[in-house]
Order: sequence, then structure tokens, then C-alpha cells
Amino acid sequence: MRKKIVAGNWKMNCTLPEGKKLASEVIHMVEDRVQNDAQVILIPPFIHLTGIYSLIGSVSNIYLGAQNCHQEREGAFTGEVSASMLVSAGASYVILGHSERREYFGETDELLAEKVKFVLDNNLTPIFCCGEKLETREAGDHENLVGQQVATALFELSEDEIKNVVIAYEPVWAIGTGKTASAEQAQEMHAFIRKQIAAKYSQEVAESISILYGGSVKPENAKEIFDQPDVDGGLIGGASLKSKDFVDIVKAFD
Ligand code: PEP
Repeated sequence: MRKKIVAGNWKMNCTLPEGKKLASEVIHMVEDRVQNDAQVILIPPFIHLTGIYSLIGSVSNIYLGAQNCHQEREGAFTGEVSASMLVSAGASYVILGHSERREYFGETDELLAEKVKFVLDNNLTPIFCCGEKLETREAGDHENLVGQQVATALFELSEDEIKNVVIAYEPVWAIGTGKTASAEQAQEMHAFIRKQIAAKYSQEVAESISILYGGSVKPENAKEIFDQPDVDGGLIGGASLKSKDFVDIVKAFD
């Protein structure tokens, strides 16, 4: 029931020609070389969405995502992008609550609860990010913090709604640092998140939700992480900007 997913978050990288080249390479390599049924999600900057969508066309198992969206339907919010705009540009997924949005744009779990509900109402699948900073892990408070993030942002949703959420556990200390959580640390936290969902909703709901790991995933470590029983794939930053590395990560599911 849980979907396997590998999502590439390009962040604020690539001009349109660079993005089209990267996406074309990924699409061709996925078509030619990947043997598994994992969903691949390309998550470029907003301005490239339509251009990349036209390249994806009807290739099966490759989807488009956005990196953020606003919590209001429309209106005087200069510089913002709405959920319906993302859908009209071809997006099926949207990252919400990435640690960079929390850190640099002050996004809180209360705001994220609004965003998650709103994008679900607009038929987009949120990829909700959670994860602790290094000092929280060192203080042994990581489960408590991640448990609170998940509960605040997601636990007002109905059972049917939360089943359509993808969660990405991304320890902040592992993002873009080259430091990966060990496969055991990832498994431990994923199992904890799933247990929280089972306690609040049901085992069936918990078993239907894909939980991705993010934080310095590379071709060399992807298989060991994806092999963990509660890890359903990855949210990939840096390595998603190199087509071969990204596709090699997808191939870790072969
Ligand atoms: C991310 O930004 O979501 C991420 C996981 O980045 P990286 O893979 O570069 O650590």
C-alpha cells in the first residue's frame, strides 16, 4: 500500500535550459534503465514547472512537484503561488515545511497545518517535512520534537485526508552537510513516526503513508537506507542536480 518514492528537490538551482537538460536526462534514464515501480518526482523552482511538465508528458511513474505554496486560495499576496496554480501547471505534489522554509521564512507547524489542509483540498499531495536540529538530537529530544511537528501539522486531518500525505523525515543536521543519518537512525525515527500515526488513527492508516528519508542521500548510501522496513524512499537535494546520481538513487529500489 505504501508507495515507493524518490523525489528530487532542486531548490533554487538551474536556469530553465539547465533544468530542461537535467529533466530530459533523468526522464530518458528512468525510462531506459530503471527496473522498479518507484514514483520519481521532479521538484524544480516554480518558474520551470510548465516547461518540465511538457517534457514529462505521459511518461509513467514520473511526476512533477513544487517546493512550496501559499495557504490562501488567491488574492493580494505579491510573490506567492497558490495550490490551484500549481495544479494548473501540472504539479501533483508540493513540499511543505522544508527546514529551509522553517529556518529562513519562519514557517511554523501551525502555518503548515493550514497549508497541508489547503493543498489536500486542492487535490495536491503534500510532502510534509519534519526533522530535528543537531542540538535537539544531542539533547536526546529528537522524538519529542518530531512527534510535536507531526502532531501539530497533521493530526487535525481526517483519516481519509492524512492517508494522502507523504511525510519526509529530514534531520536538519544531515541536509546538505554530507552527514547522513545512519540507516538505523533513519529506521528508528520512521518507525516512531509511524507508531504515532497508528496511535492517533489506526495501524491501517499508518501502513498506508509513505515516509521518505532526506539528508545527504547519495548513490552510495541509498540502498542501505531504502532497505529499512519503515523507509519508503527519499527526498533528495544535492544529488538530484546530477542526473546520473539521481537515477542511481532511484535504481537502489531495483
Ligand atoms: C533536502 O534539501 O531536502 C535534502 C535532503 O538535501 P540534501 O540531499 O542535499 O542533503
